[in-house]
Amino acid sequence: MNPILPGAIIGVLGSGQLGRMFAIAARRMGYRVHTFSPEFDTPTGQVSDLEVAAPYEDLDAVRTFAKGVAAVTFEFENVPAPTAEAVSELVPVRPAGSILHTTQQRIREKTFLQAAAIPVAPFRVVRSAADLAHAVSEIGCPAVLKTAAFGYDGKGQAPIRSADAAGAAWDEIGRNDAVLEVFVDFECELSLVAARSAHGDFAHYGLVENRHRDHILDVTVAPAPQSAGVTEEVTKEAIEIARTVLETLGVVGVLCVEYFLTRSGRLLVNELAPRPHNSGHFSVDACVTSQFEQQLRAVCGLPLGSTRQLSPAAMANLLGDLWSEGEPDWPAACSHPDVKLHLYGKLEPRRRRKMGHLTALANDAREAARIAVSARETLSRGAGRQAC
Ligand code: AMP
Repeated sequence: MNPILPGAIIGVLGSGQLGRMFAIAARRMGYRVHTFSPEFDTPTGQVSDLEVAAPYEDLDAVRTFAKGVAAVTFEFENVPAPTAEAVSELVPVRPAGSILHTTQQRIREKTFLQAAAIPVAPFRVVRSAADLAHAVSEIGCPAVLKTAAFGYDGKGQAPIRSADAAGAAWDEIGRNDAVLEVFVDFECELSLVAARSAHGDFAHYGLVENRHRDHILDVTVAPAPQSAGVTEEVTKEAIEIARTVLETLGVVGVLCVEYFLTRSGRLLVNELAPRPHNSGHFSVDACVTSQFEQQLRAVCGLPLGSTRQLSPAAMANLLGDLWSEGEPDWPAACSHPDVKLHLYGKLEPRRRRKMGHLTALANDAREAARIAVSARETLSRGAGRQAC
């Protein structure tokens, strides 16, 4: 395929912050961006050339959208398979809809990983209360029950601490198809954002450490500090796992692999996200080529850019909870010379909603994490805030 050149229009399915940062990278390189989602005045729409608001199920609207662009990518994982298929009949979809199909449902994703001999936490497929009782007796407690579809940031998950709590957990997740997974007593959580070009070239952003709060990513430390069991062997293995995943799936684009590192030093894959990822946001300020530009390059059939990290960095998410006592004190966060503020243009600061992030740069990744967290603290501590 000939590369899609600057000046062309790239379509994005989905309209959140990932699409926004993709659109900014695309515009910087002279592309135009159209976005499609059910909403208006969205994070992506605000920085796009055209914002189409229609349901993903409206295939006529989807086809009209596809006819106006040179290629389509997505930033929202739950785009229905028929939508991606309708687009692919008209223009290239990258990564392919089949990859979305595999990774948007935990049973398919885990089955794929297992078939590719990639280590995952022991799990069982659960489709009924009887399945669950059997699964609990097989894998034991503590365990985590996770809905197969539409689960992210801990949504659709119920811990099971003892066999007699299984019924309540089954009710809690709405009695939907699920997987029961062993509860992993991990040392730390890690991830690796990687990219594969249309020509099969592979690049990655190094292993990073992710600290979660309430199941939501809180802080990413890049690179992952060489402590807490993150040895050179672990790093090498994580890179090879990611390479296998991208090659086996035939990804053209960016994909993030999330890992648990167990206390005995084993890497287990928790999840795949076939798109730029929250844990790769540091790359915007800290790397030669951001994960968003990389996605654009892959989608357009251009060579991948260097992923070289120019400085250790850390990212701290800004959730809607920060607004609970009024507008955050933005000048306070901006007073840190090595902290970059990113806001996504979301109109309503709801609890647990990702509204933006801070990236801090320092000589050492742990120091960067300390700066990012302390800059975030100043946001809700400052004077002169107005009520929202
Ligand atoms: P997920 O939506 O599967 O990425 O889960 C969100 C977070 O919940 C993870 O990042 C972990 O902090 C925690 N978690 C998920 N699954 C497990 C597990 N099997 N064992 C321990 N913690 C888990």
